[in-house]
Amino acid sequence: MNDLSSVPVPEEAPARQRKPDWIRVKAPTSKGYGETRQLMRDLKLNTVCEEAACPNIGECWTKKHATVMILGDTCTRACAFCNVKTGMPGRVDAAEPDNVAEMVLKTGLEHIVVTSVDRDDLPDGGASQFVKVIQAVRAASPATTIEILTPDFRNKMQRAVESIVQARPDVYNHNLETVPRLYPTIRPGARYYASLRLLEEVKRHDPSIFTKSGVMLGLGEERLEIHQVMDDMRCADIDFLTMGQYLRPTPKHAEVKEFVTPQAFNAYGAIARAKGFLQVASSPLTRSSYHAGDDFAQMKAARDAKLAKMQPVTATSGA
Ligand code: SF4
Repeated sequence: MNDLSSVPVPEEAPARQRKPDWIRVKAPTSKGYGETRQLMRDLKLNTVCEEAACPNIGECWTKKHATVMILGDTCTRACAFCNVKTGMPGRVDAAEPDNVAEMVLKTGLEHIVVTSVDRDDLPDGGASQFVKVIQAVRAASPATTIEILTPDFRNKMQRAVESIVQARPDVYNHNLETVPRLYPTIRPGARYYASLRLLEEVKRHDPSIFTKSGVMLGLGEERLEIHQVMDDMRCADIDFLTMGQYLRPTPKHAEVKEFVTPQAFNAYGAIARAKGFLQVASSPLTRSSYHAGDDFAQMKAARDAKLAKMQPVTATSGA
């Protein structure tokens, strides 16, 4: 009888996971989509919309809502969920801040979201480029509100946060991405509590800046673990929570363990609101930057209403 124990078993090709109906979106074909695409090419700007293969690109780009990804298209990390290219990045583009400002002027954006790849190779992690982009956009279009979505600035967080906060973005976003138990496999280069501390630092330096964070669902997390993440975020005084379905960009990436139903997203959203977030976005297609402008306006209104309630009632003199 042949001994087959040493015969290599061919690796099974990962089966393509069928997406449920609530995830399917139309292919982008609109005129606005084409114009946004051309503008990004002309200004040599990268976007996370394309690099992350975001399912909302047709809808967002039709409205000229693109999320700019600064500091190149190559990331120094290799997270198991992310589609962005990994490797040794090139030189920082000195013209990038002006190009982002020009994009804001050309699109008339009232609210811009700027993110970046991780740049562990740079002495400041890329913080000074965020500052330059904020300053350039403010100078070109003072009424545009600015939301930044930064990396964790591993080992250089204090100085990076301090300098960015001084440039006064309206919203500082940094995503926790998943529950702490899954960090070693999903986000191996990062530390859960370091990410939380970053957001705490933003508030400590300037409580008027809104803080925002998000998690992807469907990676194998448990319901109570998500509740714990919400509590941790509230302890760090995070204002805005986003929750969306993780989608596997390629068969090489982490598999989807579960397609969370829209009803379950609604239930998570209700729990998050009860825990005291000023703003919550929770649906299968929610992404950090999806409808970010409208959500910012609602969050600002919620804070104004909360502050108004806290004003001491002054006695009116009777006639
Ligand atoms: S949700 Fe964000 S990343 Fe996706 S297309 Fe819209 S702006 Fe881009």
